[in-house]
Amino acid sequence: MNNVLEINDLRTHFQTEEGVVKAVDGVSLRVRQGETVCIVGESGSGKSITAMSVMGLVEGPAGRIVGGSIEFAGRNLPDLGKNELRTIRGRDIAMIFQEPMSSLNPVLKIGQQIMEPLMEHLKLGRKEAYSRAIELIGQIGIARPEQIAESYPHELSGGMLQRIMIAIAISCDPKLLIADEPTTALDVTIQAQILDMLRQIKERSNMSIMLITHDLGVVAEMADYVIVMYAGKVVEEGEVVDLFQSPKHPYTQGLLRSKPILGQREEELYFIPGQVPNPLELTESCYFHERCAQCMDICQTREPLLKQEGERQKVACWLYEEEIAFHA
Ligand code: SF4
Ligand code: MG
Repeated sequence: MNNVLEINDLRTHFQTEEGVVKAVDGVSLRVRQGETVCIVGESGSGKSITAMSVMGLVEGPAGRIVGGSIEFAGRNLPDLGKNELRTIRGRDIAMIFQEPMSSLNPVLKIGQQIMEPLMEHLKLGRKEAYSRAIELIGQIGIARPEQIAESYPHELSGGMLQRIMIAIAISCDPKLLIADEPTTALDVTIQAQILDMLRQIKERSNMSIMLITHDLGVVAEMADYVIVMYAGKVVEEGEVVDLFQSPKHPYTQGLLRSKPILGQREEELYFIPGQVPNPLELTESCYFHERCAQCMDICQTREPLLKQEGERQKVACWLYEEEIAFHA
Protein backbone atom coordinates (compact mmCIF):
# COMPACT_ATOMS: atom_id res chain seq x y z
CA MET A 1 0.00 0.00 0.00
CA ASN A 2 1.22 3.46 -0.88
CA ASN A 3 1.79 6.05 1.78
CA VAL A 4 -0.48 9.01 1.23
CA LEU A 5 0.95 10.95 4.13
CA GLU A 6 4.25 10.48 5.89
CA ILE A 7 5.21 12.55 8.89
CA ASN A 8 8.73 12.27 10.22
CA ASP A 9 9.96 13.65 13.53
CA LEU A 10 7.54 16.57 13.41
CA ARG A 11 8.12 19.31 15.96
CA THR A 12 5.60 22.09 16.31
CA HIS A 13 6.36 24.55 19.07
CA PHE A 14 4.59 27.59 20.47
CA GLN A 15 6.28 30.60 21.92
CA THR A 16 4.39 31.79 24.99
CA GLU A 17 5.22 34.47 27.52
CA GLU A 18 6.27 31.80 29.99
CA GLY A 19 8.40 29.85 27.56
CA VAL A 20 8.31 27.40 24.68
CA VAL A 21 5.49 24.84 24.55
CA LYS A 22 6.52 21.79 22.59
CA ALA A 23 2.98 20.89 21.53
CA VAL A 24 4.19 18.30 19.04
CA ASP A 25 7.61 16.95 19.84
CA GLY A 26 9.06 14.39 17.48
CA VAL A 27 5.95 12.73 16.06
CA SER A 28 6.28 10.28 13.18
CA LEU A 29 3.40 8.53 11.49
CA ARG A 30 2.14 7.44 8.12
CA VAL A 31 -1.24 7.03 6.54
CA ARG A 32 -1.53 4.60 3.66
CA GLN A 33 -4.01 4.66 0.83
CA GLY A 34 -7.48 3.59 1.93
CA GLU A 35 -6.40 3.37 5.55
CA THR A 36 -7.94 5.06 8.59
CA VAL A 37 -5.39 6.10 11.17
CA CYS A 38 -6.76 7.30 14.49
CA ILE A 39 -4.76 9.61 16.70
CA VAL A 40 -6.03 9.24 20.22
CA GLY A 41 -5.22 11.06 23.42
CA GLU A 42 -6.61 13.43 26.03
CA SER A 43 -6.90 17.11 25.30
CA GLY A 44 -3.48 18.71 25.36
CA SER A 45 -1.80 15.64 23.88
CA GLY A 46 -0.90 17.44 20.66
CA LYS A 47 -3.23 15.49 18.39
CA SER A 48 -5.04 18.53 16.98
CA ILE A 49 -1.80 20.45 16.54
CA THR A 50 -0.45 17.51 14.55
CA ALA A 51 -3.44 17.79 12.21
CA MET A 52 -3.17 21.55 11.98
CA SER A 53 0.51 21.23 11.14
CA VAL A 54 -0.40 19.02 8.18
CA MET A 55 -2.93 21.58 7.00
CA GLY A 56 -0.43 24.43 7.33
CA LEU A 57 -2.65 26.08 9.90
CA VAL A 58 -0.19 26.68 12.72
CA GLU A 59 2.11 29.12 11.01
CA GLY A 60 1.63 32.35 12.88
CA PRO A 61 3.44 34.61 15.28
CA ALA A 62 3.29 32.08 18.11
CA GLY A 63 3.19 28.62 16.56
CA ARG A 64 5.82 27.22 14.25
CA ILE A 65 6.94 23.94 12.77
CA VAL A 66 10.54 23.87 13.96
CA GLY A 67 11.58 20.47 12.66
CA GLY A 68 10.71 17.33 10.77
CA SER A 69 8.86 16.73 7.53
CA ILE A 70 5.29 16.19 6.34
CA GLU A 71 5.34 14.44 3.01
CA PHE A 72 2.22 14.36 0.91
CA ALA A 73 2.23 13.15 -2.69
CA GLY A 74 6.00 13.39 -2.76
CA ARG A 75 6.22 16.94 -1.48
CA ASN A 76 7.18 18.32 1.91
CA LEU A 77 4.17 20.44 2.90
CA PRO A 78 5.99 22.90 5.21
CA ASP A 79 8.21 23.87 2.26
CA LEU A 80 5.29 24.92 0.09
CA GLY A 81 4.15 28.48 -0.37
CA LYS A 82 0.78 29.74 0.85
CA ASN A 83 -0.89 29.46 -2.55
CA GLU A 84 0.33 25.98 -3.27
CA LEU A 85 -0.81 24.87 0.15
CA ARG A 86 -4.22 26.44 -0.37
CA THR A 87 -4.65 24.49 -3.56
CA ILE A 88 -3.81 21.23 -1.83
CA ARG A 89 -6.02 22.10 1.10
CA GLY A 90 -9.64 21.53 0.17
CA ARG A 91 -8.78 19.63 -2.99
CA ASP A 92 -6.29 16.88 -2.08
CA ILE A 93 -6.53 17.15 1.70
CA ALA A 94 -9.85 18.07 3.26
CA MET A 95 -10.61 18.67 6.89
CA ILE A 96 -13.65 18.54 9.13
CA PHE A 97 -13.80 19.88 12.66
CA GLN A 98 -15.86 19.31 15.77
CA GLU A 99 -17.83 22.51 15.34
CA PRO A 100 -19.27 22.74 11.81
CA MET A 101 -20.68 26.21 12.47
CA SER A 102 -17.16 27.59 12.82
CA SER A 103 -16.29 26.54 9.26
CA LEU A 104 -19.54 27.50 7.56
CA ASN A 105 -20.47 30.98 6.51
CA PRO A 106 -23.67 31.96 8.37
CA VAL A 107 -24.94 34.27 5.63
CA LEU A 108 -24.44 31.95 2.65
CA LYS A 109 -26.89 29.28 1.61
CA ILE A 110 -25.74 25.68 2.05
CA GLY A 111 -25.84 24.98 -1.69
CA GLN A 112 -23.57 27.93 -2.39
CA GLN A 113 -21.08 26.75 0.21
CA ILE A 114 -20.86 23.32 -1.35
CA MET A 115 -20.49 24.86 -4.80
CA GLU A 116 -17.57 27.07 -3.86
CA PRO A 117 -14.76 24.49 -3.65
CA LEU A 118 -16.12 22.84 -6.81
CA MET A 119 -15.82 26.11 -8.71
CA GLU A 120 -12.49 27.07 -7.13
CA HIS A 121 -10.62 23.75 -7.26
CA LEU A 122 -12.35 21.83 -10.04
CA LYS A 123 -13.19 24.91 -12.12
CA LEU A 124 -16.79 23.83 -12.58
CA GLY A 125 -19.28 26.38 -13.91
CA ARG A 126 -22.20 27.48 -11.71
CA LYS A 127 -24.73 25.12 -13.24
CA GLU A 128 -22.49 22.11 -13.08
CA ALA A 129 -21.40 22.96 -9.55
CA TYR A 130 -25.02 23.28 -8.49
CA SER A 131 -26.05 19.88 -9.80
CA ARG A 132 -22.95 18.33 -8.28
CA ALA A 133 -23.81 19.98 -4.94
CA ILE A 134 -27.31 18.48 -5.07
CA GLU A 135 -25.82 15.09 -5.85
CA LEU A 136 -23.43 15.39 -2.90
CA ILE A 137 -26.22 16.32 -0.51
CA GLY A 138 -28.06 13.21 -1.66
CA GLN A 139 -24.93 11.12 -1.09
CA ILE A 140 -24.66 12.13 2.54
CA GLY A 141 -28.11 10.71 3.16
CA ILE A 142 -30.23 13.83 3.18
CA ALA A 143 -33.69 13.71 1.61
CA ARG A 144 -34.90 16.63 -0.54
CA PRO A 145 -31.43 17.99 -1.32
CA GLU A 146 -32.85 20.97 -3.28
CA GLN A 147 -34.54 22.25 -0.19
CA ILE A 148 -31.42 21.87 1.94
CA ALA A 149 -29.35 23.68 -0.68
CA GLU A 150 -31.62 26.69 -0.21
CA SER A 151 -31.23 26.72 3.61
CA TYR A 152 -28.91 28.75 5.77
CA PRO A 153 -26.69 27.03 8.37
CA HIS A 154 -28.75 28.23 11.36
CA GLU A 155 -31.80 26.44 9.96
CA LEU A 156 -30.15 23.01 10.25
CA SER A 157 -29.35 20.73 13.20
CA GLY A 158 -25.80 19.97 14.35
CA GLY A 159 -25.92 16.51 12.82
CA MET A 160 -27.15 17.91 9.48
CA LEU A 161 -24.43 20.54 9.47
CA GLN A 162 -21.76 17.96 10.11
CA ARG A 163 -23.09 15.99 7.13
CA ILE A 164 -22.86 19.16 5.05
CA MET A 165 -19.27 19.64 6.19
CA ILE A 166 -18.52 16.12 5.04
CA ALA A 167 -20.17 16.83 1.68
CA ILE A 168 -17.94 19.88 1.29
CA ALA A 169 -14.89 17.91 2.41
CA ILE A 170 -15.42 15.09 -0.09
CA SER A 171 -16.63 17.32 -2.92
CA CYS A 172 -13.28 17.42 -4.69
CA ASP A 173 -12.54 13.76 -4.06
CA PRO A 174 -9.61 14.29 -1.68
CA LYS A 175 -6.90 11.70 -1.15
CA LEU A 176 -6.85 12.40 2.55
CA LEU A 177 -9.57 13.48 4.93
CA ILE A 178 -8.50 14.84 8.28
CA ALA A 179 -11.30 14.75 10.83
CA ASP A 180 -10.74 16.35 14.23
CA GLU A 181 -13.32 15.10 16.75
CA PRO A 182 -15.98 15.17 14.01
CA THR A 183 -18.72 13.59 16.12
CA THR A 184 -17.83 14.76 19.63
CA ALA A 185 -20.53 17.44 19.73
CA LEU A 186 -23.27 15.09 18.51
CA ASP A 187 -25.54 12.69 20.34
CA VAL A 188 -24.76 9.00 20.18
CA THR A 189 -27.30 8.01 17.52
CA ILE A 190 -26.29 10.77 15.13
CA GLN A 191 -22.64 10.05 15.89
CA ALA A 192 -23.09 6.43 14.82
CA GLN A 193 -24.83 7.48 11.60
CA ILE A 194 -22.09 9.91 10.70
CA LEU A 195 -19.29 7.43 11.39
CA ASP A 196 -21.12 4.87 9.33
CA MET A 197 -21.43 7.31 6.48
CA LEU A 198 -17.73 8.19 6.66
CA ARG A 199 -16.86 4.52 6.48
CA GLN A 200 -19.03 4.02 3.41
CA ILE A 201 -17.56 7.04 1.67
CA LYS A 202 -14.08 5.81 2.45
CA GLU A 203 -14.81 2.39 1.05
CA ARG A 204 -16.31 3.79 -2.14
CA SER A 205 -13.52 6.22 -2.84
CA ASN A 206 -10.52 4.48 -1.28
CA MET A 207 -9.71 7.75 0.44
CA SER A 208 -7.47 7.77 3.51
CA ILE A 209 -8.63 9.18 6.81
CA MET A 210 -6.68 10.64 9.68
CA LEU A 211 -9.15 10.75 12.53
CA ILE A 212 -8.46 12.59 15.74
CA THR A 213 -10.45 11.62 18.78
CA HIS A 214 -10.33 11.17 22.53
CA ASP A 215 -13.07 8.55 22.23
CA LEU A 216 -12.00 4.93 22.11
CA GLY A 217 -15.47 3.91 21.00
CA VAL A 218 -14.85 5.90 17.82
CA VAL A 219 -11.41 4.33 17.47
CA ALA A 220 -12.87 0.83 17.74
CA GLU A 221 -15.46 1.67 15.06
CA MET A 222 -13.18 3.36 12.61
CA ALA A 223 -9.47 2.68 12.94
CA ASP A 224 -7.19 0.38 11.03
CA TYR A 225 -4.15 1.74 12.82
CA VAL A 226 -3.91 3.67 16.08
CA ILE A 227 -1.43 6.26 17.32
CA VAL A 228 -1.63 7.08 21.03
CA MET A 229 -0.29 10.51 21.91
CA TYR A 230 0.64 11.91 25.29
CA ALA A 231 2.10 15.35 26.01
CA GLY A 232 3.24 15.92 22.43
CA LYS A 233 4.71 12.49 21.82
CA VAL A 234 3.64 9.13 20.47
CA VAL A 235 3.67 6.69 23.38
CA GLU A 236 2.21 3.67 21.62
CA GLU A 237 1.05 2.59 18.18
CA GLY A 238 -0.23 -0.47 16.43
CA GLU A 239 -3.02 -2.13 14.48
CA VAL A 240 -6.37 -1.52 16.16
CA VAL A 241 -6.89 -5.20 17.03
CA ASP A 242 -3.50 -5.53 18.71
CA LEU A 243 -3.85 -2.31 20.60
CA PHE A 244 -7.24 -3.20 22.03
CA GLN A 245 -6.28 -6.77 22.77
CA SER A 246 -2.94 -6.11 24.35
CA PRO A 247 -2.26 -2.47 25.12
CA LYS A 248 1.34 -2.11 26.29
CA HIS A 249 1.72 1.42 27.61
CA PRO A 250 0.20 2.08 31.04
CA TYR A 251 -1.44 5.18 29.54
CA THR A 252 -3.13 3.16 26.78
CA GLN A 253 -4.18 0.60 29.37
CA GLY A 254 -5.69 3.42 31.42
CA LEU A 255 -7.53 4.84 28.41
CA LEU A 256 -9.01 1.45 27.67
CA ARG A 257 -10.11 1.00 31.27
CA SER A 258 -11.76 4.40 31.21
CA LYS A 259 -13.72 3.60 28.08
CA PRO A 260 -17.40 3.62 28.98
CA ILE A 261 -19.23 0.40 28.31
CA LEU A 262 -22.83 0.63 27.22
CA GLY A 263 -25.11 0.40 30.25
CA GLN A 264 -22.33 1.12 32.74
CA ARG A 265 -23.18 3.84 35.21
CA GLU A 266 -21.10 7.00 35.23
CA GLU A 267 -19.76 6.45 38.76
CA GLU A 268 -18.44 3.03 37.81
CA LEU A 269 -16.17 4.48 35.16
CA TYR A 270 -12.47 4.43 35.78
CA PHE A 271 -10.56 7.64 35.22
CA ILE A 272 -6.82 7.89 34.88
CA PRO A 273 -5.89 9.89 37.98
CA GLY A 274 -4.02 13.16 37.55
CA GLN A 275 -3.68 15.36 34.48
CA VAL A 276 -1.48 15.92 31.49
CA PRO A 277 1.66 17.66 32.84
CA ASN A 278 2.19 21.38 32.42
CA PRO A 279 3.99 21.64 29.08
CA LEU A 280 6.25 24.33 30.47
CA GLU A 281 7.47 22.18 33.31
CA LEU A 282 8.55 19.07 31.45
CA THR A 283 11.88 17.66 32.49
CA GLU A 284 13.81 14.70 31.09
CA SER A 285 11.54 11.83 32.16
CA CYS A 286 8.61 9.75 31.07
CA TYR A 287 5.95 12.46 30.91
CA PHE A 288 3.40 10.02 32.25
CA HIS A 289 5.37 9.14 35.37
CA GLU A 290 3.34 11.17 37.84
CA ARG A 291 0.21 9.29 36.85
CA CYS A 292 1.70 5.86 36.41
CA ALA A 293 1.15 3.14 39.01
CA GLN A 294 4.19 1.28 37.67
CA CYS A 295 6.61 4.18 37.75
CA MET A 296 10.24 3.22 38.47
CA ASP A 297 13.25 5.39 39.36
CA ILE A 298 14.48 5.62 35.79
CA CYS A 299 11.09 6.90 34.62
CA GLN A 300 11.61 10.11 36.56
CA THR A 301 14.96 11.01 35.06
CA ARG A 302 15.12 9.52 31.58
CA GLU A 303 12.77 9.61 28.65
CA PRO A 304 11.78 6.23 27.17
CA LEU A 305 11.95 6.18 23.39
CA LEU A 306 9.39 4.66 21.06
CA LYS A 307 10.59 1.16 20.17
CA GLN A 308 9.28 -1.92 18.49
CA GLU A 309 7.60 -4.26 20.96
CA GLY A 310 6.65 -7.64 19.62
CA GLU A 311 5.97 -7.91 15.94
CA ARG A 312 3.40 -5.25 15.35
CA GLN A 313 3.37 -2.68 18.14
CA LYS A 314 5.60 0.16 19.20
CA VAL A 315 5.75 1.51 22.73
CA ALA A 316 7.71 4.14 24.66
CA CYS A 317 7.94 2.78 28.18
CA TRP A 318 10.79 1.57 30.37
CA LEU A 319 8.79 -1.51 31.35
CA TYR A 320 9.64 -2.96 27.97
CA GLU A 321 13.36 -2.35 28.17
CA GLU A 322 14.18 -5.81 29.39
CA GLU A 323 17.30 -5.08 31.41
CA ILE A 324 15.77 -2.13 33.17
CA ALA A 325 12.48 -3.79 34.00
CA PHE A 326 14.40 -6.79 35.28
CA HIS A 327 16.55 -4.77 37.68
CA ALA A 328 13.79 -2.47 38.87
FE1 SF4 B 1 5.08 4.24 33.66
FE2 SF4 B 1 7.72 4.30 33.59
FE3 SF4 B 1 6.39 3.27 31.56
FE4 SF4 B 1 6.38 5.86 32.02
S1 SF4 B 1 8.13 4.64 31.45
S2 SF4 B 1 4.65 4.62 31.51
S3 SF4 B 1 6.35 5.94 34.22
S4 SF4 B 1 6.46 2.49 33.65
MG1 MG C 1 -8.39 19.10 19.97
